[in-house]
Amino acid sequence: MPVYEDIKSIKGIGEKTARLFNKLGVFTVDDLLRYYPRTYVQYPEITKLKDNCTDGAVIAVRLFVTEDFKFKQLKNINIGSGRASDGEDIAYITFFNTPYHRAKLVYGASYIFYGHLKIENGRYKLEQPFFYTEAEYQGLKTSLQPVYSLTKGLSNKTVLKSVKSCIENECYTELYDEYLPDVIKEDFELKDRKKAIEGMHFPESTDDYMLSRKRLVFDELFSFLYMLKSIKGDEKRPRTEFKMIESAGPKMLGEKLPYKLTGAQLKAFSDITEDMTSGYAMNRLIQGDVGSGKTIVAFLALLMCVENGYQGAMMAPTEILAQQHYENICALTEKYDLPFKSALLTGHTTVKNKRLIYERLLSGEINVVIGTHAIIQDKVAFRQLALVITDEQHRFGVKQRENLSGKGSMPHILVMSATPIPRTLAIVIYGDLDISVMDEKPSSRVPIKNCVVGTSYRNTAYKFMADEIKKGHQVYIICPMVEASEELSEVCDVTGYTKRLREIFPESIRIEALHGQMKADSKRNIMEGFVKHDIDILVSTTVVEVGVDVPNATVMMIENAERFGLSALHQLRGRIGRGKAQSYCIFINGNDSNEHNKRLDVLNRSNDGFYIAKEDLKLRGAGDIFGIRQSGELEFELADIYEDSELILKINETIEKTENKEIVLSKEEDRTLKNYLAENTHKFIDFRTI
Ligand code: ADP
Ligand code: MG
Repeated sequence: MPVYEDIKSIKGIGEKTARLFNKLGVFTVDDLLRYYPRTYVQYPEITKLKDNCTDGAVIAVRLFVTEDFKFKQLKNINIGSGRASDGEDIAYITFFNTPYHRAKLVYGASYIFYGHLKIENGRYKLEQPFFYTEAEYQGLKTSLQPVYSLTKGLSNKTVLKSVKSCIENECYTELYDEYLPDVIKEDFELKDRKKAIEGMHFPESTDDYMLSRKRLVFDELFSFLYMLKSIKGDEKRPRTEFKMIESAGPKMLGEKLPYKLTGAQLKAFSDITEDMTSGYAMNRLIQGDVGSGKTIVAFLALLMCVENGYQGAMMAPTEILAQQHYENICALTEKYDLPFKSALLTGHTTVKNKRLIYERLLSGEINVVIGTHAIIQDKVAFRQLALVITDEQHRFGVKQRENLSGKGSMPHILVMSATPIPRTLAIVIYGDLDISVMDEKPSSRVPIKNCVVGTSYRNTAYKFMADEIKKGHQVYIICPMVEASEELSEVCDVTGYTKRLREIFPESIRIEALHGQMKADSKRNIMEGFVKHDIDILVSTTVVEVGVDVPNATVMMIENAERFGLSALHQLRGRIGRGKAQSYCIFINGNDSNEHNKRLDVLNRSNDGFYIAKEDLKLRGAGDIFGIRQSGELEFELADIYEDSELILKINETIEKTENKEIVLSKEEDRTLKNYLAENTHKFIDFRTI
């Protein structure tokens, strides 16, 4: 194994800073090198003051100092003030606690000032701007400046400096040595690995960023696809001892439900029935857009399993979702007198309860267990586990199968996903799964009404929300960030937004925040509160994205919608429009350029996830790198199944060619490559950590 040095070995990182880095999951030098910026800032062109007559605009302006700055000490604060001119207009400049600027800001000196422009009573003001020499600024302007995800107490500057120090001192582990044979490297036109890491943090240009990213994405996908290949060698459909017979329950339940199952739901279930009665282990993916009703299909499969006298397990990626599935199945059991004896197993189950559940699973007293992935997979022993369902995460399937088949008997496997993937990719990524596509929405649904608007529409939207809340409905507001960031001051954050909303809305409207950095306990409480309607407005990051079903929520407003991938937006929107009432989705475009509008308009036009993913790719094109990340179940560190679909196909082809010797490698090359892959595929196989 390569040596991983603690980040404390980096100059300038002491105990305290190290702890902050640890909070972000950065423990080693290697972690830090891979702590890629969340986005980049490009410094603006230099303008005149009057060209930017909007309050709050971020500007760069060339000013010469027209009077000596005065720095005064007032109690705890040192205030510096003075004036500077661009030849036509004057700016009033203020500094706080920077008395050392005095030496630089002398009468007649000229600098590029960079910061937020304030306009008060017709006066231009700059508070605490940065200032640079002409040459310094030109240097900044040609490159992209990294913006990292931060935590309280850790500044962007600290992260930037630490990364820089690593790169300058060549703190690369042997992991970064070149492993690729020249033929492949040249064929893909790949950059050197170390240079690529550097280019991710400090790209000289957009092109440099693209090439750096490509190299690292290649590495990630190459290991992943290679790993898939090595697993796929197995027989596609092993025999199973859990051959079932078609039982009466599912059909009866289907007829008793308050709604009519869609044709797609019936077809998916009939595929499942065929698989589970065949004597071979089912290995099926149900791909169905958000809201297509996958959960009930899973329950029907569980019902058939239980009626055959076996046990079933259903896994969800988050506790919130597991809980919800559990409550759903309990409600169905009670209402329709079903033979389920179910249990919920999550990180929150007490040790005592866990032990009890383990016992009852082993004895067969419990026939359905629902929970989060890690928990179920780990220690649980079943009496006769015949069906394993995983919701909203297809990568899981591979590991799952390996693990479970290791336990002796081969259960049926059903994987449910809302991520639409083109057929050609599906074959590569999970070529060993059979696929049922649920391409039909329940007909009772009222289509969501969408609108894409600018930030000036906010107040109207708040009034609209208040009306909906009066009608007894609930609202989601999505912000891209958890906390405010200096570098991205135009991007909304959950923490600040929640505070502001509480000031805007009357106290009777209950507003809460939800984000990934909260403790699991608090997250659960908030989500439960929303489900129970103890909360009217939930201000959240994309953590609500996966699977959650609160049919009473009828409004979703997404701030800075331009910063999300369209597929991610579509998944988010899937949280509403689930009940009988009309739902509304408001996309706020924080950047009023037409380009973004064109992209967001796709969402206006279509509710079809597959179409949206394709259009997104077309419109984004190469070079659109600012903060857009598709989220979804196939999360890679950098790669994106849509954006990198061509690369995926080509890498797959290359792996095949090396295997059947169309690409010939020397012994040395082959050994280096295999060594690298042996060390790097493990991270994909251990999916539990994802
Ligand atoms: P997803 O496919 O996104 O997992 P769910 O299974 O959560 O969707 O279903 C969304 C909502 O639609 C649930 O409230 C569910 O009860 C309801 N539903 C499921 N099937 C139908 C149907 N055929 N007709 C009407 N409503 C349905
Ligand atoms: Mg679902």
